[in-house]
Amino acid sequence: MAAITLSKLNKHYGSLFHAVKDVDLEIADREFVALVGPSGCGKSTTLRMIAGLEDITSGDIRIGERIVNHLPPRDRDIAMVFQNYALYQHMSVYDNLAFGLRNKKTSEAEIKAAIDRAAGMLGLHGMLQRKPKQLSGGQQQRVALGRCIVRNPQVFLFDEPLSNLDAKLRAQMRIEIKRLHAQIPTTSVFVTHDQVEAMTLGDRVVIMREGRIQQIGTPLAVYGKPANKFVAGFIGAPAMNFIDVAVHNEAGATAVEAAGLRLTVSAPDARALAAYGGRHVILGVRPEHLVLGEGAPGAGFDARVEVVEQLGSEILLETRVGSHGVTVARVAAETAIARGDQIRLSAQLGRLHFFDPETELPVRA
Ligand code: ATP
Repeated sequence: MAAITLSKLNKHYGSLFHAVKDVDLEIADREFVALVGPSGCGKSTTLRMIAGLEDITSGDIRIGERIVNHLPPRDRDIAMVFQNYALYQHMSVYDNLAFGLRNKKTSEAEIKAAIDRAAGMLGLHGMLQRKPKQLSGGQQQRVALGRCIVRNPQVFLFDEPLSNLDAKLRAQMRIEIKRLHAQIPTTSVFVTHDQVEAMTLGDRVVIMREGRIQQIGTPLAVYGKPANKFVAGFIGAPAMNFIDVAVHNEAGATAVEAAGLRLTVSAPDARALAAYGGRHVILGVRPEHLVLGEGAPGAGFDARVEVVEQLGSEILLETRVGSHGVTVARVAAETAIARGDQIRLSAQLGRLHFFDPETELPVRA
């Protein structure tokens, strides 16, 4: 078991492209950290540098007590699971699982014990004699996981391991990985572009953009207190609604206003917005923080329904508010509502977010 520390980690590809910028990250022993961000943000490069598959340009990587900057992958005591399972097609599942241990000259008895244990955890007992092509995608991914488990490494590294699987299987594998981590709490770094995967798996989530870390926090913290507008829009599905609003500080109350929308903000928000009187800020409101009908005083506004997405468990309403774009609301599945309806929506005033339009940083008291 080991902690991982990244200090001022940088990666340049050639002389022009700066893919990873001053990344500082401390991952505790046994912690599960999810690295998430849009395509090209540098998350895979970061993971591959931890694995030793990519040279680092500057900075330090520490695994446990050792600086591993120049150690080859095989000496880092890590196991990596990729998107394409990279199983040996001509070998049985058993031999695939045994491969790494045989290379380390482990005795066959120990190998059998390790495989028994891993196969039990992953439900592979019935398929140990099959070849990978006789397995489904999910089963192959379980074998790939099993190959990591039998090696009992200090660190698990996952590079988008679930993105080849269909939605149902992905959800199942997510649960298996979570269960696995509960059974063998190994320090893990999981790279994904899927924020749901990151939120559900990570003890903490690291959000990256253009090579830089934007925020590090628990799933609840990055959802509830996003560090900037980018994180606010990236975490949460459907995404947070953003509306450009003018701030009016009036005697006893502060309101934010856009065409067709006027909200009287809560006392803490009013304090935060005190310096913004007469200026514009970006209002952020999550679809789940809009309710149908008249809510608290100063919280309601009119909207026209443009699209109704019935999901069975809930309805997503795409609405137009005043002259500006679409505002998405999440309402109960049983709601009788149709395209073209004029409705009243209310915001939960305690759950609004505000961002400075220039810096995109949150406006907080
Ligand atoms: P994705 O989800 O698409 O894999 P990512 O966040 O994992 O994205 P990286 O694979 O880390 O992104 O790549 C970061 C940036 O570095 C990208 O813009 C990519 O084009 C660039 N890059 C990656 N590998 C190389 C390379 N070998 N040479 C030059 N540029 C590279």
